[in-house]
Amino acid sequence: LFLSFEGIDGSGKSTQARLLAEGLRAEGRAVTLTREPGGSPGAEEIRRLVLEGAPDRWSAETEILLFTAARRDHLEKTIRPALARGETVITDRFADSTRMYQGLSRGDLRATVDRLHDLMIGTEPDLTFLIDIDPALGLSRAVGRAGKELRFEDMGLPLQQAMRAGFLDLARAHPARFRIVDGARPPATIAAEVLGLARAHID
Ligand code: C5P
Repeated sequence: LFLSFEGIDGSGKSTQARLLAEGLRAEGRAVTLTREPGGSPGAEEIRRLVLEGAPDRWSAETEILLFTAARRDHLEKTIRPALARGETVITDRFADSTRMYQGLSRGDLRATVDRLHDLMIGTEPDLTFLIDIDPALGLSRAVGRAGKELRFEDMGLPLQQAMRAGFLDLARAHPARFRIVDGARPPATIAAEVLGLARAHID
């Protein structure tokens, strides 16, 4: 079983990914918890290349290639081996993040992301939890975190709003795969809902 968490910065998806991993492990499941960009040694190197450089170091197109390369390595080295061992894989971000961040932040490049995805990745999670939150709330959470790599905090609310709307559009276009979860509630409340949704999909 392959599960992903998506959402804008500060949505709380990383916390929810961890809580779901703990919840499923408590039920006796073997779980690999991973993240993007990164999730394998090679992909973590690419993460540093992208996130630690100046924001304009790479063009949007080059970033799409880098993120897709990282995802390919993550898939080959971490995700597929874990699935082959029969584990549940939970990833904090997957291709939907590239569809939104690289696909929307500098013009609409979503079709390019999708074509490269079809060519090089060709797989989607069984279930994707979209942790939906008002960007103003997400931003206030995200910037409050010390040492957090944040690339888009200065991109302003309008782009964050567009990103939120883009995620919601994506979720509505693929209702079988997506579950939209209200991220404004207390973490434990959200975690209980997410665990229930995951169980409902498993059974
Ligand atoms: O999910 P996480 O907070 O670890 O992401 C780190 C940074 O990378 C965030 O600022 C996020 O917006 C950015 N990012 C990105 N493109 C992606 C995924 C994440 O620019 N495809």
